[in-house]
Amino acid sequence: MPRGINNSDPMKESSYDVLIVGGGFAGSTTAWFLSNRGYRVLLIDSKPWNRIGDKPCGDAVSKDHFDDLGMPYPQGEELEQTVQGIKIYSPDMKTVWTVKGEGFELNAPAYNQRILKEALKRGVEVMDMTTASSPILEGGRMKGAVIFNRRTNETIRVEAKVTVDATGNARSLRMKLPPGIPVTEDLDDKDADVAYREEAITAEPIEDPHFLRIFVSQRAAPGGYWWYFPKGEQKVNVGLGIQGGMGYGSVHEYYRKYLGVYAPDVKEVVLRGGALVPTRRPLTSLVWDGMVVVGDSAFTVNPVHGGGKGSAMISGFCAAKAIMKAMEVGDFSKQTLWDMNLCYVSKYGQKQASLELFRKFLQKLPDEDIDFGMRKGLIKEEDLVEVSVKGTLKLSVAEKAIRLISGLSRPSLLMKLKTVASYMTKVKEVYNNYPTTFSELERWKAALNDMYAQFDAALDQ
Ligand SMILES: Cc1cc2nc3c(=O)[nH]c(=O)nc-3n(C[C@H](O)[C@H](O)[C@H](O)COP(=O)(O)OP(=O)(O)OC[C@H]3O[C@@H](n4cnc5c(N)ncnc54)[C@H](O)[C@@H]3O)c2cc1C
Repeated sequence: MPRGINNSDPMKESSYDVLIVGGGFAGSTTAWFLSNRGYRVLLIDSKPWNRIGDKPCGDAVSKDHFDDLGMPYPQGEELEQTVQGIKIYSPDMKTVWTVKGEGFELNAPAYNQRILKEALKRGVEVMDMTTASSPILEGGRMKGAVIFNRRTNETIRVEAKVTVDATGNARSLRMKLPPGIPVTEDLDDKDADVAYREEAITAEPIEDPHFLRIFVSQRAAPGGYWWYFPKGEQKVNVGLGIQGGMGYGSVHEYYRKYLGVYAPDVKEVVLRGGALVPTRRPLTSLVWDGMVVVGDSAFTVNPVHGGGKGSAMISGFCAAKAIMKAMEVGDFSKQTLWDMNLCYVSKYGQKQASLELFRKFLQKLPDEDIDFGMRKGLIKEEDLVEVSVKGTLKLSVAEKAIRLISGLSRPSLLMKLKTVASYMTKVKEVYNNYPTTFSELERWKAALNDMYAQFDAALDQ
């Protein structure tokens, strides 16, 4: 029985410093950074232990994230394949860019559970098969959650100084709060990809198994892309994402129709599943009084490539840092927890906002323009690295392109690229001025929304 639970009441009650709801990458990283500090931390997850971290995913994560946060590298069974780079194929498959960069193809549940076990060993309590059914809100501030443990058949009222919503795309805690609280911001269907993947054994050994493959094609994955991520000599994670809310049809139909084009060597499927991926900037505020939101629930995914495990870890790191400060001063208000916003925005959120604009631009490009742009080198591999690392599309690239306009056949594409590059810089400036206090949030948000509206109008011209 977890420490602090009072067994005599009809509804059990317990109290903790921190309640973390959800044990995926975001929740378990938060727990890992909070562990060993003498706090009373409870992490719950609806899944049984052996399925925590088991969610449909491409499982590719850049090594930089582990280095940046000081997280342990995956090892042994946690690591399925080391990655040396990505090959990006144009829609007509005639141009292939190779972007080098180290990373890992994870056995995600194994790595996730290892992080959680380390946190457990260092004092965090973990309850599996336990679901938070409703938040406890008192005087407008978050005070914990009512949880149900399916192993013991107990309903428990858990009070906590800080409650962390790490519920992934379910967003199952924060969306039960009254509307009007900033952390209840909803997801527009168009700002998400519907993604599906299978893991399969291949008929032959995979060529270049240390390189991930990405196939861009509006025809075969409208508003998204196909991937082929080797997980070993003869094992692959293959899938696609398509933009939601556009009436494009079922992701499964695209999968069946184009599997033979992008993964002709698939022999035997060992795993299948899909989920939604948010592809927008993060929540305007990731904190409320007594509450922090992390991971997919806070929309921390990279809007262009849809990778969200590394940024879920960043959000967990920032959450833990902000909670530690709150514990130090004994104040759990949104203003003290605000450091979470400042940390996340500077580490990743600002880049996400800029990449959201790039994503919107890419989603409107016909295959012919992408073929043309890649073939002519309007953007080059190194520019793509710059975009993905810093969220900056170098104006010089677009300007260089503009100078070539006379000789090329698609001036409108080039002009648009220049517009996109300039708005990407502008949005980063807006994020540079992310408010330092809650009271400035609404004004800042109005300026941001204004900028996004201008960008959308410019893109539609
Ligand atoms: C098909 C697909 C491919 C992807 N490919 C990649 C990739 O290659 N690389 C990458 O980095 N990212 C990828 N992503 C994104 C990545 O999977 C997510 O961004 C990341 O796993 C999010 O982690 P999380 O901890 O926020 O959420 P989750 O991993 O979803 O964890 C949320 C946890 O909360 C629990 N939970 C939910 N509600 C409750 C509740 N009320 N009470 C208790 N527990 C609850 C769930 O059981 C779950 O364990 C992909 C996503 C998809 C769908």
